[in-house]
Amino acid sequence: MSGSRTRARIRVEGVVQGVGFRPFAHSLATRLELGGLVGNDSDGVFVEVEGEPTAVEEFHQALRRDAPPLAVIERLTTESVVPRGERAFTIVASRAGAHRHTLISPDSATCAACLAELADPADRRFGHPFISCTHCGPRFTIVTDVPYDRPATTMAGFPMCVDCAAEYTDPADRRFHAQPVCCPACGPTLRLLGPDGAPRDGDPIAGAVALLAAGAVLAVKGLGGFHVAADATSQAAVATLRARKHREDKPFAVMVPGLNEARRLCEVDSAAEAVLTSAHRPIVLLPRREGASGDHEAVAPAVAPGNDSLGLVLPYTPLHSLLAEALRRPFVLTSGNVSDEPIAYTDADAEARLGGTGGMVDATLTHDRPIHTRTDDSVVRLFRGREYPVRRSRGYVPHPVPLPVALDRPVLGCGAELKNTFCLARGRHAFLSHHIGDLENYETYRSYVEGIAHFRRLFDITPEVVAHDLHPQYLSTSYARELDGVELLAVQHHHAHVASCLADNGETGPAIGVALDGLGYGTDGTIWGGEFLLADLAGFRRLGHLEPVPMPGGATAIRQPWRMAAAYLDAAYPEGPPDGLDVTRRHPEQWAAVVAMTRGGLNSPLTSSAGRLFDAVSAILGVRDAVNYEGQAAVELEQRADRSHRGSYPVRLTDGEPFRVLGADLVRAVADDLVAGVDVALIAARFHTGLTDVVVAGCTRARELTGVDTVALSGGVFQNVLLLERTVDALEDAGFRVLVHSRVPTNDGGISLGQVAICATRS
Ligand SMILES: [Zn+2]
Ligand SMILES: [Zn+2]
Ligand SMILES: [Zn+2]
Repeated sequence: MSGSRTRARIRVEGVVQGVGFRPFAHSLATRLELGGLVGNDSDGVFVEVEGEPTAVEEFHQALRRDAPPLAVIERLTTESVVPRGERAFTIVASRAGAHRHTLISPDSATCAACLAELADPADRRFGHPFISCTHCGPRFTIVTDVPYDRPATTMAGFPMCVDCAAEYTDPADRRFHAQPVCCPACGPTLRLLGPDGAPRDGDPIAGAVALLAAGAVLAVKGLGGFHVAADATSQAAVATLRARKHREDKPFAVMVPGLNEARRLCEVDSAAEAVLTSAHRPIVLLPRREGASGDHEAVAPAVAPGNDSLGLVLPYTPLHSLLAEALRRPFVLTSGNVSDEPIAYTDADAEARLGGTGGMVDATLTHDRPIHTRTDDSVVRLFRGREYPVRRSRGYVPHPVPLPVALDRPVLGCGAELKNTFCLARGRHAFLSHHIGDLENYETYRSYVEGIAHFRRLFDITPEVVAHDLHPQYLSTSYARELDGVELLAVQHHHAHVASCLADNGETGPAIGVALDGLGYGTDGTIWGGEFLLADLAGFRRLGHLEPVPMPGGATAIRQPWRMAAAYLDAAYPEGPPDGLDVTRRHPEQWAAVVAMTRGGLNSPLTSSAGRLFDAVSAILGVRDAVNYEGQAAVELEQRADRSHRGSYPVRLTDGEPFRVLGADLVRAVADDLVAGVDVALIAARFHTGLTDVVVAGCTRARELTGVDTVALSGGVFQNVLLLERTVDALEDAGFRVLVHSRVPTNDGGISLGQVAICATRS
């Protein structure tokens, strides 16, 4: 009998701990009547199975095929070993190791089984706001250390009751070794605090819902931080929230109870449906439905003023589910902070910054499970049925992005200055951080430094090479320069953008990289941002760029797009702009001075930024003269464009290398149309198509120069989906193969990945 038995030793690597892998292996082995063992070690999961050869083979197949929902198997290796006659299958103790190469799962939206229990009056977790299991719940945000075990999470302070402990230790149970497992008897406690910080009597959910329904603004503790919530159907409530948060126009995200409510507000196709209900559960920016504003359940205008898309998110924690079910209407759920500060994530922080008398909120719905890592909601758009990330954070982090080339040495990519992320990497794993934010803010910078230390510990990576932006004044650059004993590599910003797009697609180049962006430091000391690069991971050549124009007042011009209008109009009309341009009259005092400043080169650094070209056009068309959030002028210009209109403007490239694209041509065409009385929506559409034609002309020239016909599109300007759609279509029509982002943002949130990918060829 034993002669017909075989024994296999299997090693599974990837996201396989804390996701129910051992009980899965146990039940599979038991069903197939196999003996053996399973356990965790520092590299993942080890398994040995013994029995009939066909059953062993079936086990091996099913291990990958039927793995638990949150498991991500990256590698599965098998070797034959001598059978021992083992009949029973056991889960053995974890083996500690010198290295910590296991992966930690991202936080995951409540699974269907937990939601069913949450709604079942007969279940002992009925209405329990902390219900979770091995297939769902908090992970990354509660991990304090490795190995991932309850004492190394913020659940350490909640000893399990007898019932929970029985589930936790039963390999057949869905909660076997689910670290956040708890129940009303042993879990965290929800509380509703009044403005004085004192707990209110009664059911906290019912109390919170009553307040929201009455127009109050509430702080709600989520997975990665505190949100601020308000009834999205109430103009007064949302306006109050805007005023208290000091956020003038930037759209708010809205939580809806489910897909039906999402469909009432927005166009939800099957791709959107899949992303909205995914375990990542990001905010999804979706086109609003025609006529949705007439609905009594429609969101108030103040939610996303002048914007024809809306950010929707479905509940992803049991607490959100309970709130949404009880409120039965959409509610704003936005990060708990004032303007550019990082999101509040500790109770003390929330009390200090959001609560208190005269604070941002009227009440706080909170609990006593600490958040260890501050993590904002992720935001995605959809492009051709795929995710197009705007912010990659909660729900995605810290799952690694695969690198196209393995690193010889561990690397840290320090990222950029705005929308910062950092990236620690080893081998083929790039651990891109959660969204950190704008480093100029001291609190944000502190969370950057702490975040890097936390990632180094969690993934046991000590970087030997540190890549940073070429910009000498970025705080991420100073951070890199202060590190001892590492090799530094300065990476040009737009090379990093293009490399990030290549790595995002698992490619190494060469490609024609088109980086349309805000601002990035160039190798010539000017500010780049409208670049055609021949690039691979090893290096780049600047084939062409937008003709630089002065940026009058430097950083002031970023906040006041009308200044860019002055600079561009001066370039477009050396003899002076045509009469009838309102933008010149809206700033009567300053216009002449700014033009003089431009001409004299006084505090007017040169830039080839495509973002600033958008700013100029937005101001000329009267869409936006001054912004109160990054990219606002371009966002609103995109909104104004008539999407059905296909008209364009002629573009010219200069000869030589680098060739130059005359952005002033576009500006002149825009201004001439405006003076001629053409509708702004048509002009905005023509400008978008004109820029598309610029990209196609630039890429065609680049192909002639290099023979390369793959194009990689990156940079913050490509957050504009109208521009992206038209550009990809036109490039494909012209015979190019086009790469766009789908794992990391096209904005500066993707820079750290590009920095790391570039090191793969140099370390
Ligand atoms: Zn669950
Ligand atoms: Zn319990
Ligand atoms: Zn950039």
